[in-house]
This record gives sequence, C-alpha cells and structure tokens, in this order.
Amino acid sequence: MSQNVMKISLAYTLKSIHHSKIIYSQHKKARDMSKGKIKVSTENIFPIIKKFLYSDHEIFLRELIANATDATKKLHTLSSLGEFKGEIGDDTIEVIVDKSAKTITVKDRGIGMSEEEIKKYINQIAFSGAEEFVNQFKDKTDTGNIIGKFGLGFYSSFMVAERVEIVSKNYKDEPAAHWECDGSPEYTLKTTEKTERGTEIILHIAEDSTEFLEDIRIKTLLEKYCKFMPVAIKFGTKTEQVENTEGKKDKDGNIEKVAVQVDNIINNPNPAWTKSPSALTDEDYKNFYSELYPFNFEESLFHIHLNVDYPFNLTGILYFPKIKPNMEVQKDKIQLYSRQVFITDSVEGIVPDFLTLLHGVIDSPDIPLNVSRSYLQSDGNVKKISSHITKKVSDKLEELFKKDREDFEKKWNDIKIFIEYGMLSDEKFFERAQKFALYKTTDNKYYTLDELTEKIRIAQTDKNDKLVFLYTNDVDNQYSYIQSAKEKGYDVIVMDSPLSSHLIGRLEQQVEKSTFSRVDADTIEKLIDKNEEIPCKLTDKQKEELKPIIEEVISKEKFTIQFESLNETEHPITIIQPEFMRRMKEMSKLNNGGMFGAFPESYNMVVNANHPLISKLLNEKDSNKQKEIAKQAADLALLSQNMLKGEELSKFIKRSIELI
Ligand code: ADP
Repeated sequence: MSQNVMKISLAYTLKSIHHSKIIYSQHKKARDMSKGKIKVSTENIFPIIKKFLYSDHEIFLRELIANATDATKKLHTLSSLGEFKGEIGDDTIEVIVDKSAKTITVKDRGIGMSEEEIKKYINQIAFSGAEEFVNQFKDKTDTGNIIGKFGLGFYSSFMVAERVEIVSKNYKDEPAAHWECDGSPEYTLKTTEKTERGTEIILHIAEDSTEFLEDIRIKTLLEKYCKFMPVAIKFGTKTEQVENTEGKKDKDGNIEKVAVQVDNIINNPNPAWTKSPSALTDEDYKNFYSELYPFNFEESLFHIHLNVDYPFNLTGILYFPKIKPNMEVQKDKIQLYSRQVFITDSVEGIVPDFLTLLHGVIDSPDIPLNVSRSYLQSDGNVKKISSHITKKVSDKLEELFKKDREDFEKKWNDIKIFIEYGMLSDEKFFERAQKFALYKTTDNKYYTLDELTEKIRIAQTDKNDKLVFLYTNDVDNQYSYIQSAKEKGYDVIVMDSPLSSHLIGRLEQQVEKSTFSRVDADTIEKLIDKNEEIPCKLTDKQKEELKPIIEEVISKEKFTIQFESLNETEHPITIIQPEFMRRMKEMSKLNNGGMFGAFPESYNMVVNANHPLISKLLNEKDSNKQKEIAKQAADLALLSQNMLKGEELSKFIKRSIELI
C-alpha cells in the first residue's frame, strides 16, 4: 500500500502564482518573506469544484456513466484491432444504489485500469487539469464548462460523495487496483482482489446529498442523461411476462405466460439518429418520435434526418410537430447530445430561433459536454451548425414540395407558422423559401409567389403599372368583399396568421412594383384602379344634398362620406378602411399606443352614386321615410363589415321586419 500526498512542483507553483490571483493573494505574504519555497497544495481545488458546480451537481452520474461507456467502447475498438483477444462477454454497465450503505456504484466491463494507469489517468490528469482550472478561474467565474474542458469528469463525483473508491482490473489482466480518496488530495492506492475485468466506482454519498440515494431520483437522472447512451445500462430489475419454457398452454391453446425478473435496461444504445436514413422506415421514425416524447400522443407532420460530416460532425432528426393553439406551452423541446450523451434541451443559439419549435434531437461531438450560454454565442462552430441546420431544413422542405406537392399543400396550414417566422427572421431562409412558401387563395388553391405573380399579372395591374395583391385576413367577415373581387376576376389570398402583416411588408419589397391591399381597403372599382371611368348619375349639387341626410344616421367621428360612381350592381353603401389607415392602426396597437398614440378608429363610407336606391333616397319627399331608407342602407353596410352590434343590431332587425 502506498500513501501519497500530492504536491504540485515548484515550477508549477510559481506558474500558478503568476497566473492566479486567488492563490497569489492567499500566499502573497509568504512570497514576500521567503523566496521559491511555497508549496501550494490542491486542497483548495475541491471546495471550488463543489461550490461552482453546485447548481449542476446531478451531472456526476452522467460523467461517471460517460466514462464507463468510453471504457467499454475502447475495449471494443481494441478487440476489433486484435489488441484484445479475450471474450468481451456481457458489457452492460450497471448502476447500483444501496440506501443502507449510502453508496452508489457504477460498474462497467470496459478496459479497466491498473495501479499505474490510475496514477496516470486519475491522479495526474485531474491535477494537471486542476492547474489549468486555477489559471482559468483567475479571470473568469464562468466555470460552466470546467468539467468537459479539464477532464475533471470523474472528480465531479466529489460534489455528492464524501469518499470515492475505484476498484479496477484492466483488460491486460494485470493485478487489480483499489484507489480511495476522501476529497482531500490524499489518496490510497493498493493491489486488490478482483477477477472480473472492468471498473467499479463506489461513491459514499455525503450527508447533504442523500437525495441521490432515492431510486426514483436516480431513475429520473438516468432517463434524462443516459437514455440513448451507446452501451446498455442496467438499473435494477423489472417484471416481464414471457412464454413458459415447458410449452404449457391455456384453455384457448395459447402458450401460457409467466412473470420473470429481467434486467431493467434504461437506455436504447442504438437510437434512430445514429442509423443511416436508408435503413429506417417511416414507422421507425414514428416510433423514435414516441420514444423521445412518451407523453406526446400526436404524430409529427414529417421529419428531417441530419447527417453531416464536414466541416463538422452532426447527426440528428428534427420533427415538424402539429402546432397546438397554445404554442408557448412547449414542453417537448429539441434535445442536444454529444456522442449520445444528453447535454441540454435549451438549444437557443445552436438551432435558429424559428426552428426551436421543432422537436427531435441533434448530436454533435463538436459541442462540448458542458455548454454555457456565453460559449455558444461566441463559438464559430456553433454558428456554422445553426446556419447549416437552416439550410438542411429548407432543402428538405423544397424536396417535399417537389416530390409530392399535393401532400405538402395539405400540411401547409400546420407548417406555415415556422416558415413565415423563418422568412421574417432569416434573410437566407427567405430566399430559399421562395421555392416552397405557399399562398392560398380563397378558392383553396395554392401558389408560390412566382406562380401567383404570374397568374394575377394581367388582371391585377393598376393604371400606374403596379401589381396589386389582394388579401383577406378573415374569409367569413370579408365575404362580400371577396365575392365582389372574385366577380371581377381577381384572386384573393388568405393571410390570416399572426405574422401575416409583417410578411406583407417583406413581400412588397420582394416583388418589384407591387402592393398588398386587403379586400375591404377600397371599393371594388378603386381597389385596383384601372382608370375605367363609369359615368356618374349624380351631380355635385345632388351629392351635397344627400350628404347631410346620410350623416344624420351615422357617427360622424367614425365615418367619412365619399361618393363614388360604381356599377349599379355594387352595394348602395359600403364601408372601407384604407390600407394605409389600417396599417397605421395595427402598428399603433403593436407599439402599445407608442408614438402613434391611440390611433382613432376611422372608416370611409362609400356611397354608390349610381345605385337605384341612392336615387330613391334623393327623390323621397317624406323626410321620415328618407331617414329610414338612409339608416337601413347604412346599417346594411355596417352589417356586412360585422360592425352592427347590440342595440343598433336589434333595432335594425325590427325595422327590417316592419319593412317586409
Ligand atoms: P475525462 O473523462 O474528461 O478524460 P475524467 O476525470 O473523467 O476525465 O477521467 C480521466 C481518465 O480516467 C479518463 O480519460 C480515462 O482514461 C480514465 N477513466 C475514468 N473512468 C474510467 C473507467 N470507468 N474505466 C477506465 N478508465 C477510466
């Protein structure tokens, strides 16, 4: 048995002093008095690890199992190279919680370590890692990724354990080793009896961490971090129904089943994303979706299998979910893995914002295990990953569109929110989306912007050579306006998503000399002004005469009267809200009042000078009757804009019945 006290060499000490403010200040006095004789022990490293990783202390289990997995995979590699000639046998990793002994044991059948190897890998690496850590620590408190960076994974066990033992036997069949350490830099290392190849890490759980001795806590952690690790992990046993071996049958002739205890394997070592897309069926993708989100019973719309090996490594599967009305309640998030080890499900920065609503997994060994936010924002690789994912997603959408347009159109309603969001937030995606972003008309036909532009070019170009896109944001409420537009041979597109008004602005920039008008932004003649004058049946004097009659029955603050010479077949009175006014109003709403203040609600009441009813109104001699006609016509206009409500509406109904 050898007893060691680890000390850091003088050279290292001087270097540490040079770099480290903490140590420098602690030992400043000593340095002033004696030259080159200070011994800085690593004793102060453990409290720092414990303190700074505290919020994350549950990751100790992930780190230990990741080490066990690595050791197992290394053995497989050695075996395939012929370096290891023995039997690998059952290589299942086992996690054992012993509540009464207050221990957690992680046991693997990997390459193992001899005494010398423990000295080399556990003692030296960790403590040279500690050196770097101290250097790093002097300027930064962002210690989010110390573990991954400095090979302190094993030492994270001291966040929850007061004492840790390693019992290990390596694959070369050298004598087994037993290492033990209580979190101070003192350790013991001796030869021990162990016949099985592999490593056991035994944590003696500290008083403040006994929560980890609860099976349910460990089970949850294993499910969170280890669900797809590449080597089978056993945690206890479970009951399973299997066919009996004696071939006993029940009364229906089926082989009887009996309950047996089997290993409870908590992970799937070969998740779908690690396989080649050609080896997977649609069913496999569906199954993997429910494996990822066992509590989501909805199916996804489609998936994208990511598989990149240059300029970085990335695999993964992204699913387009069916968007539920309450989008913010988003519990099924994209999960980020590094070589099948779970890192996080907050992927902001790695996945473009508009795709964070997708589901699925991304796995990249180029993303360090302990990701901190500031790291993500500055890392070039991560930025590349983000733009690559955007490209992959748009490629896939284009492919789906080309392969089966009909099916794509069916799914459009569910995916348009992602696509519109992407088009507005990412210029490159906007460009790419030109190939598959669709615009639906009120006839339920779908067009790309190019197709639509082509289709409406002749009918919807106005006298100034401007192409006018007509849209509706509410097919039911704007029904009569849509009908008039259709009768004119116009196409009306449905823009009813929460992002539509933003998208319209962007599309106007995209299509040269174009403008978007909502169907009720003007009278049908003026909506697309083609300079086709219709002779007017009223003189200016007659218009002057009519104006006060109508004004008497409406709210003058809200409506401005405007005479137009329209077709006789158009309504006698129509209410419109000019596109400009409406956009201003919408903007003021978005800015919460803002610089536009409370923008007044104002509409134009268009009187069709050529309508017979308007002539009748003018010629009516009985002033009561005249008022009644005016009121009825104005109310009808309000009604068609869904603006006639409450008392006014019931009065209108009563009056209509009397008229009949
Ligand atoms: P890292 O895993 O980041 O290198 P660790 O402190 O977790 O840092 O482990 C240090 C080294 O100890 C590993 O690189 C490995 O060589 C060795 N090691 C740790 N755990 C095991 C294990 N279960 N079996 C074999 N070797 C191990």
